[in-house]
Amino acid sequence: MSFQSLNIIEPILKSIAQEGYTIPTPIQQEAIPIVLRGIDLLGCAQTGTGKTAAFSIPILQLLHASKAYDKKRKIRSLILTPTRELAIQINESIKAYGRFTGITSTVIFGGVNQNPQVASLKAGVEILVATPGRLLDLMNQGFVSLRDVEIFVLDEADRMLDMGFIHDVKKVLAVLPRKRQSLFFSATMPPEIVKLSNTILNNPQKVEVTPSASTVDIIKQFIYFVDKENKPELLIDVLKDPNIKTALVFTRTKHGADKVVKILQKNRISAEAIHGNKSQNNRQRALENFKAQTTRILVATDIAARGIDVEDMEFVINFEISNIAETYVHRIGRTGRAGAKGTAFSFCDAEEKEYLRDIEKLIGKKIPVIDNHPFPLMNHNPEKTPQRGARPQRKPASSTNESRTQRNSSDTNTNKPNSNNRPYRQSKETNGNKKRWFN
Ligand code: AMP
Repeated sequence: MSFQSLNIIEPILKSIAQEGYTIPTPIQQEAIPIVLRGIDLLGCAQTGTGKTAAFSIPILQLLHASKAYDKKRKIRSLILTPTRELAIQINESIKAYGRFTGITSTVIFGGVNQNPQVASLKAGVEILVATPGRLLDLMNQGFVSLRDVEIFVLDEADRMLDMGFIHDVKKVLAVLPRKRQSLFFSATMPPEIVKLSNTILNNPQKVEVTPSASTVDIIKQFIYFVDKENKPELLIDVLKDPNIKTALVFTRTKHGADKVVKILQKNRISAEAIHGNKSQNNRQRALENFKAQTTRILVATDIAARGIDVEDMEFVINFEISNIAETYVHRIGRTGRAGAKGTAFSFCDAEEKEYLRDIEKLIGKKIPVIDNHPFPLMNHNPEKTPQRGARPQRKPASSTNESRTQRNSSDTNTNKPNSNNRPYRQSKETNGNKKRWFN
């Protein structure tokens, strides 16, 4: 299927060709025709599936088709998203896809001076991308009117709930025109989210992109069983691999993220942390340094990392495993974006084994284990702490090659470690391949 066959107009076809997109992703194939028909949409999809274009392209097309040539531009579409990073990325995408349509957009988010945002609102825009808090703030100050909104998008609804934004979202909903088209996206659909979607959507069509089809299957995944106290040394050992040019490392806590950064820096590995205790500017700078590859390792907590879209990022390392299985899928989904390949390593200590079981149940497969590494799990009983600094012996060479292969993997056709016994990708993709979507 091509974008042409989805009846996309020429100015948008031209810009998406410039972006290097040739084939619509599954969510785009399904969602674009629904949105173009003016129907409400319930999209169950996560970041990394191409969902931003799935709603931005038809919104641009609809607004372009009924473009009011008023002198003063009015906000005709509102996109609410939970984080600053996501908001910026969505606005950048809209600007890229809409560059030949004449439709204007801007983005507002908290934690920064409001004046430049107010100035761009005063200049007039048709599409507003916003985080809930700053939107309400600027609405209360009279800088934003939602009176003319025709298309409303609620992005990452489950994350809105997690981050405690649901009341703000409801306040925004209360002032939106009743007659409108609404698009609702969420990676997961717990009962509370279904309930919320029912209050927003009118006769929606549902589109679902399962993470297992889109993300999990194309990412090489490996487990290292390791004692908690040996995780820093294992990380340093893993990062000796020069093929790991950059990696996103996940910790469960902000404090944990800072600790990992310190350890890496002490070992002369450039690293920065991105989490809720850092200022917005600090986070943005860390992300930019990481994108530019001036920082090799970005250490993140889950909320801060949500929506990070870094092209070329091949490696995700779960320094700590989340107790929520879906979080694993979100984390590893930071790599393998839109079909590009990726590798995820997870460091699992004795206490985290039960989280691993939940993850394997969710993704429906066993994750291959790398059991020939310098820090194998010694402490099988979480109550018993092994001696600090007791560095386990390397296994005898005779057992290494065999044991490094997939001990408990049922799918033997993938993830074969290469000849160096390292599970990394050997060749780097070309830019052209990177953008390709693998169904
Ligand atoms: P998203 O899920 O919107 O965060 O998109 C994930 C990534 O996929 C972004 O880097 C997009 O630029 C890219 N992308 C979106 N649609 C396509 C497409 N049809 N072909 C290739 N890449 C795409």
